[in-house]
Amino acid sequence: MNLVVRDPADVRSVVGEVPAMTPGEVAAAYQRARSGSGTWRRASPLDRAAVLAAAAALIRSRAQDGAVTLVRENGKTLAEASVEVTKTADFLDYYASFARQPWGEILADARGATQTTVRTEPVGVVLAITPWNDPLLTPARKLGPALIAGNAVLLKPAGQTPLIASWLADLLQTAGLPDGVLEVVTGRSEEISTALLTDPELDAVTFTGSNEIGRHLRRALCDRNVRLQTELGGKNASVVLADADLELAAATVAAAAFGQGGQRCTATSRLIAEASVIDGLLERLRHRAEACVLGPGLDPGTTLGPLSTPGHRDGVLGHVERARSEGAEVITGGGRPADEKLRYGCYVEPTIVATKPRQSLWRDEVFGPVLSVATASGFDDAVRLTNDSGYGLSAAVFTADLRRAHEFIDRAETGQVAVNLPTSGWDVHHPFGGFRESGSPFKEQGAPGLRFYTRIKTAAVRYAW
Ligand code: NAP
Repeated sequence: MNLVVRDPADVRSVVGEVPAMTPGEVAAAYQRARSGSGTWRRASPLDRAAVLAAAAALIRSRAQDGAVTLVRENGKTLAEASVEVTKTADFLDYYASFARQPWGEILADARGATQTTVRTEPVGVVLAITPWNDPLLTPARKLGPALIAGNAVLLKPAGQTPLIASWLADLLQTAGLPDGVLEVVTGRSEEISTALLTDPELDAVTFTGSNEIGRHLRRALCDRNVRLQTELGGKNASVVLADADLELAAATVAAAAFGQGGQRCTATSRLIAEASVIDGLLERLRHRAEACVLGPGLDPGTTLGPLSTPGHRDGVLGHVERARSEGAEVITGGGRPADEKLRYGCYVEPTIVATKPRQSLWRDEVFGPVLSVATASGFDDAVRLTNDSGYGLSAAVFTADLRRAHEFIDRAETGQVAVNLPTSGWDVHHPFGGFRESGSPFKEQGAPGLRFYTRIKTAAVRYAW
């Protein structure tokens, strides 16, 4: 049976279907990828770059088509989807530019008449497993470095958003990617997981998704010499100090907490404010939350689209209910919108909840438009609360004091730190990845993003004797 994709704005509407592949079909995709990897690794980096750049140009020329597919499948607003399409093209262009960078170095050798070089090679066949929240950008963030380095990729998109992944793969093919270099694998993960993870052709797995599945992959691969990169969850804090510009802080935190329905790994989900500014800040945030216009992502007036599925919507509401039962105070939102027109969509009102650090909403990743708020007694307490999490993806501080800003950067246990800026919104050339339970040591994006997809060979050549 095919996988059926439904519109999160009205789950009665079917957007499309893709094949649910069998384990045998996954094995055949690996065979094609192994053969594609042989061709692609021998191609000049300049030829690989030409394909990436041509695909980026195609993406830009069909941006509206891609953005609409994204909205229908994922639910985000057209404005959010358009940014994602642009950034996808940026990823391919950015990694194409590495073709003209050095791919190795020459080292001194004591043996005389000997040249020793360090060469960078592709790792081979990479499995990329991606989630539904940025279903175009996340594959591109992996495909850019994987392909410029000469790897073949099996791309396994989330079951909720396979259509936009296929759209991207088609454009890469049209741009000249040889057969077998990119195989899109669609199917039910419970049926094909073993085939995906145990195939002998598999050399590396790059995964973005939940901590639960990240742990499952670690266990499944621990007996094999297959490298694993994981980009996992977050519980990102924004700190507002007493000297902050409250208008800037409220506007920035609201956008980072409620944009894309909070379904971003870098969304601000915890707010920590000094006592002297908390009331003024919460008033401004409440106003912004209540001004959000919920509706289908394709409606021009919509500022907040639906969440991804009914199950996810109910899970988010379950987090809020649990918070209520633990004594947290819901300041605004906390339910489904009353508007009858939205009844078949996966909507959740933007929600602000005053919490205590021991409560579950302070600790658990919600992945919805829910902001958990706590008061700090001063700067040190704000830093302590920021680091009071098993996650370590992103953090932000709002202050006019340069000394405090730098001290916060030094002390935050997160892979990304922002000052007077949102926890989300990092550019394609900014190295990206979390500390602690938010991910593995391999970074994505920027020049360090290439390391996962390459292996190093040292070669010595004696040219006279
Ligand atoms: P998920 O449930 O872990 O799913 C992610 C991907 O893993 C999907 O393609 C899913 O396929 C696949 N998958 C599930 N079970 C699998 C298995 N047993 N074997 C192989 N693949 C399997 O995550 P999600 O709920 O979609 O995404 C939200 C999570 O991603 C959040 O925790 C968020 O913070 C995190 N995230 C992190 C980053 C980052 O860069 N750190 C970025 C974005 C999102 P199916 O859909 O077919 O099950």
